[in-house]
Amino acid sequence: MSTPTILLVEDEDSFVEALTVGLNREGFRVEVAQDGATALARFHEVKPDVVLLDLMLPRISGIDVCREIRKFSTVPIIMVTAKSAEIDMVVGLEVGADDYITKPYRIRELVARLRALLRRAAMEQGGAAAPAPTNGRSLVVGDVALDSDEHVVTVAGEPVSLPLKEFELLHLLLSNVGRVLPRELLIDRVWGADYVGDTKTLDVHIKRIRSKIEPDPSMPQRIVTIRGLGYKYERPAPSMRS
Ligand code: CA
Repeated sequence: MSTPTILLVEDEDSFVEALTVGLNREGFRVEVAQDGATALARFHEVKPDVVLLDLMLPRISGIDVCREIRKFSTVPIIMVTAKSAEIDMVVGLEVGADDYITKPYRIRELVARLRALLRRAAMEQGGAAAPAPTNGRSLVVGDVALDSDEHVVTVAGEPVSLPLKEFELLHLLLSNVGRVLPRELLIDRVWGADYVGDTKTLDVHIKRIRSKIEPDPSMPQRIVTIRGLGYKYERPAPSMRS
């Protein structure tokens, strides 16, 4: 898949313009539909590789567009919501989207998710698909391994599932093993310098990662809290050999 095609379903002109420019620059072909009915018609003409679907649309809602597409296609769909509360609602409805993103979001985050979905779709289509573009690498610390090309984390060989932010956070910690990373730096690097939100978000994400990679999440040995400062990924204990 050299130039993946995105069907951008979005009714707000400002978003359409910004996304078209941004996604073109990232190597995507962008086809636009500004309401749900047009989206369904365009879907058949364009045969997109991925659909970016706004929830709030005139005529037919994003939820109904998603359900309709799912009747005949397994194309990756990212649903765009205006509030994170809507994500819970849409996820609850099980409309069949593959991922969710809340406005306002950063184009970099969107592109990372688009690429992750396209890679997954390519792998599911039979393994022989084109290799993913490589700008990532593998990190291995003790029995935790993170492959940023494949977006895969394993613990003692067992894959664990990490959503994007948890993945980025773990990536940052593993890249700086043995070093204390201040809270501000972690928030800045993972959520962006202009992030406005509860800084508890960081702790919640750390907690989720711990629940997946720590042998005993109540007694973290890998990601440790440095009180008043931030977090540190501990170097693995040296093997007991004399
Ligand atoms: Ca809208």
